[in-house]
Amino acid sequence: MSLTTWAGNLTYGAARVHEPRTVEQVQEVVAGARRVRALGTRHCFNGLADTEHDLVRLDALDPDVRVDAGARTVTVTAGTRYGALARVLHAQGWALHDLASLPHISVAGAVATATHGSGDRSRNLAAAVAAVDLVAADGTLRHVARGHDDFAGVVVGLGALGVVVRVTLDVEPTYDVAQEVHTDLPWDVVLEHLDDVTASADSVSLFTDWTGPAVQQVWRKTRLPAGGGYERRTELFGARPAPGPLHPLPGIDPVHCTEQLGVPGPWHERLPHFRLKFTPSNGDELQSEYLVPRSRAAEAFEALRALAPVVTPLLQVSEVRTVAGDDLWLSTASGGDRVALHFTWHPRQAEVEAVLPRIEAALAPLGARPHWGKLFASLVAPGSDPRALYPRLDDFRALVARTDPEGTFRNAFVDRHVLGA
Ligand SMILES: Cc1cc2nc3c(=O)[nH]c(=O)nc-3n(C[C@H](O)[C@H](O)[C@H](O)COP(=O)(O)OP(=O)(O)OC[C@H]3O[C@@H](n4cnc5c(N)ncnc54)[C@H](O)[C@@H]3O)c2cc1C
Repeated sequence: MSLTTWAGNLTYGAARVHEPRTVEQVQEVVAGARRVRALGTRHCFNGLADTEHDLVRLDALDPDVRVDAGARTVTVTAGTRYGALARVLHAQGWALHDLASLPHISVAGAVATATHGSGDRSRNLAAAVAAVDLVAADGTLRHVARGHDDFAGVVVGLGALGVVVRVTLDVEPTYDVAQEVHTDLPWDVVLEHLDDVTASADSVSLFTDWTGPAVQQVWRKTRLPAGGGYERRTELFGARPAPGPLHPLPGIDPVHCTEQLGVPGPWHERLPHFRLKFTPSNGDELQSEYLVPRSRAAEAFEALRALAPVVTPLLQVSEVRTVAGDDLWLSTASGGDRVALHFTWHPRQAEVEAVLPRIEAALAPLGARPHWGKLFASLVAPGSDPRALYPRLDDFRALVARTDPEGTFRNAFVDRHVLGA
């Protein structure tokens, strides 16, 4: 059976797919391959994970979750899904700082692309990485921990530096979260008072189709003090509390969404928008996302509202989130806080790809960085220097050249968009 992305929009071209059961077997696969790429849970929408040569999946390795309470870290096998990890952590009294909207993605795959949730103080998931163990091109195992010279380059590695077999993440004591949804937040408020809106909870997402005078939904997730309750907000800058649970897409049953209406619950059952026990096998959707410096958010909103006539007909919904800055070289939030502008598209790829250059023409002058795992046309505007977007890009290229001189982990996507080959 052919292997596709979760969305089914790309069939991987690999000649061989390996499913090793031990780290030693991963090492043998890498040492014996001319070109190899690691594959996580296949949730990317582009060719980032693809290769014509060898693909290696880590699903068959035991998750082997090990908490170090003294160091406040957890070490886990790289292919483990966040949702599965979260359940084990919570049962032992621990938590992660944030999660993405979907808990079904693998830890290594999410970290490799700087996957993020939302929150003014919430850095992307890769920022929680304290160390990685990866199989290098010659099959040897490398341990790269915070403080190592290569660390900030290795973490968001796009699969180009080796096959990560274990990831160590920062943890903190478990906590509860309450989630509530408001509807119809006026655009005037978003444009004038975005900081107040996003500061109104620990994690805030705005759902919009870019038309009309108001953002359709505001999802807010608030951390609660130990044993503390939650008082719902009757009013939110002119937005009204939703009368019942909502799905981000209008008219869809919210049965698969995480609990709303301010009911407190464990962090991992509120931070994602969707429940872990609902397992979407494949998605009738495509996605794109661009992260602009926070200071340019209002200009980006205006640009996208002006593009609504071409964007909205292809759109299921857009989500606006905030991400705190970090110092990882290829992180989409590297160097400062960002506002993330996400698009869930109808699965009409040719039409979507025809619109992306128009979105990018509007957002590139604002310093927009495309999400590494989603559909985009071009990393930077034609003729522009990608080093202006990622000031540490030359360091990343040098790191790849030094640690993988034969190009074992390269593929067409990385060559084109990252290495400039
Ligand atoms: C429904 C849905 C919801 C999403 N929600 C969010 C969201 O809320 N926020 C967000 O930022 N993104 C989101 N994404 C995007 C998603 O998080 C990223 O595409 C992420 O990279 C997917 O992880 P994966 O394990 O499926 O990776 P894959 O698609 O399998 O691989 C992605 C990259 O990681 C590399 N990789 C995977 N495993 C390893 C490994 N062991 N060692 C080295 N490299 C490895 C691959 O080589 C590839 O380069 C969403 C995607 C979908 C489909």
